[in-house]
Amino acid sequence: MKTTTYVEIEEETAARASWVEDIARLPVPDGGRFGAFGGQYVAETLMPAIAELEAAWRDARRDTTYWAEVEDLLVNYVGRPSLLYHARRLSAEVGAQVYLKREDLNHTGAHKINNCIGQAVLARRMGKRRLIAETGAGQHGVATATVAALFGLPCEVYMGAEDVVRQSLNVERMRLLGAEVHPVESGTRTLKDAMNEALRDWVTNVGDTFYLIGSVAGPHPYPWMVRDLQSVIGREARAQILGATGRLPDACVACVGGGSNAAGLFAPFAADASVRLVGVEAAGEGIATGRHAATLGAGRVGVLHGSKSYVLVRDDGQIAHAHSISAGLDYPGVGPEHAAWKDSGRAVYVSRTDDDALAGLERLARTEGILCALETAHAIAALDEVARMIGPDGIIIVGLSGRGDKDMVTVAQRRAK
Ligand SMILES: *Cc1c(COP(=O)(O)O)cnc(C)c1O
Repeated sequence: MKTTTYVEIEEETAARASWVEDIARLPVPDGGRFGAFGGQYVAETLMPAIAELEAAWRDARRDTTYWAEVEDLLVNYVGRPSLLYHARRLSAEVGAQVYLKREDLNHTGAHKINNCIGQAVLARRMGKRRLIAETGAGQHGVATATVAALFGLPCEVYMGAEDVVRQSLNVERMRLLGAEVHPVESGTRTLKDAMNEALRDWVTNVGDTFYLIGSVAGPHPYPWMVRDLQSVIGREARAQILGATGRLPDACVACVGGGSNAAGLFAPFAADASVRLVGVEAAGEGIATGRHAATLGAGRVGVLHGSKSYVLVRDDGQIAHAHSISAGLDYPGVGPEHAAWKDSGRAVYVSRTDDDALAGLERLARTEGILCALETAHAIAALDEVARMIGPDGIIIVGLSGRGDKDMVTVAQRRAK
């Protein structure tokens, strides 16, 4: 942990370090673990594929040609850097200076594309010619289908049969982009079953297939790789806030589903002890009802999809069915680095209900003219609490993970009640 001096800030903003140097500053999980969490809890048959991926990531991570290709696509295709916008009217209501990191302005409308670009470039580098992915709400499936089209690679997406019905618009998007969507009929017919099915496909087709995971979940090296790829959010935001205000923020706030947009925003600030990191989970209909997705807030330590972290479990020990108004937060697990940050106290995690999220979405729309995703709205809904922690002159960076177009039908139905 260090305190940043004014001179260091000047130097930092003046000389923008290369991506390889920036990435090299982020911690490497020791033995595939973040503290007591993470690891590789997978079938023997999957180990060679995971070892190959881990070696490829270790190599790519310190290779300037890899990052040059990723950066080129992020700039010229995705539209980065994303804006850091000082939300003045929202700030006045909240009682702190709120800056929005606008991932909603990316091509495809959310942060997920950052990760997909990085993994697709890695897949090509590894000589893999087929992409597979799991998707819940369909957002990661759409982002994967997008990069598959961009690279001319065949793409197959596993999606719970229940979600295929609920998210038919995203299914249509994926098909238009040339991807094949496989409805998964097992289990609860949702995201966790889709992820199991994708892992099964990978075991069977390791030779030519790259499994593109959509969050900081899954076995090592995924939580590490996805965090590194999403760290572009926090690295940009850090330089942008220093440029705009001459100092570091007092808090960073982001919603947490699997945890990728939050980890990407938090990681570049994790060594700055003065910056509070606040993750916001989905409390659904209320923690007490059991219908929620607050994995860190109300879960137990367990293993899901190859990684040890907090998980939501039922009384009989089975993985519970997560619930949230926002399909993107509806996952019964969470990335292992968040579990480690929670246990060390480096980050704190709060939760907001479906109703809170709707109010957050309406507030951002009314004060700033921005319609955010329902996932993001959970972070907006926590701003009053964060402002009370840091005071009126405090600076908050909020990860605006995605735009709200996809949620307008849900929002309209809720508001009609
Ligand atoms: C998928 C999604 C999330 C949740 O995923 P994380 O891995 O927790 O970031 C949040 N916001 C939006 C807009 C999403 O599409």
